[in-house]
Amino acid sequence: MLRLKEIKESLLHVVFPHVCDGCGSDLLNIESRLCIRCLASLPETNFEIHPNNPVEKDFWGRLNIIDGSAHLYFTKESLVQHLMHQLKYRGNKDLGVQLGRIMGNALKSSTRFNSIDALIPLPLFPSKEKKRGYNQAKVLCDGIAEILNLPVLSNVIIRPQYTETQTKKGRIERWKNIEGKFKLIDPAAIQNKHLLLIDDVVTTGATLEACGNELLSANNIKLSVATLCIASR
Ligand SMILES: [Zn+2]
Repeated sequence: MLRLKEIKESLLHVVFPHVCDGCGSDLLNIESRLCIRCLASLPETNFEIHPNNPVEKDFWGRLNIIDGSAHLYFTKESLVQHLMHQLKYRGNKDLGVQLGRIMGNALKSSTRFNSIDALIPLPLFPSKEKKRGYNQAKVLCDGIAEILNLPVLSNVIIRPQYTETQTKKGRIERWKNIEGKFKLIDPAAIQNKHLLLIDDVVTTGATLEACGNELLSANNIKLSVATLCIASR
């Protein structure tokens, strides 16, 4: 038989079925998605306020950026990995928006990112976006945009889908060929702007490099890059 305390807790869960996306503990404010303890334990890099940080150094000689940042350290079996998994494979868009707000606040606290005109989410392959139901970079942008009050330009650059002619090439060559391919379809929408290119994670930086260089082909562009996390290589 259930004790009174257990009945009360069960009822409370029915009335307030909100739990932290990090640890599963009860949350009073569903908007925040994360409890205070999880928020406090996020491994922040503070790259936002540090020029010449590892993200910027990584792009030296590869992609001409003004500023670069990644907000959190990604390690295996960690809270950040758990959150990333929910964002990418569990359809937790609300968590993505909240993580975007957290990124936005960190960018806002730095003077380095105060001349941005628009946000660009790194595009996914159309088939992948269809399967996932959304582009996680766009979801992050929505949260950042709320804090920084900036437009999100999600239709200026695309990632062309796999084509039949590429099937004739070798597997590795084919992968290289499609992985690094982006197509700027609306250069007029971004000309004379300082763009902040957004993705969920930076690892080798190859994809951001390819996308960023395609954006830089438009007229009079300044480019900066920010990701939610940085993975060790
Ligand atoms: Zn928590």
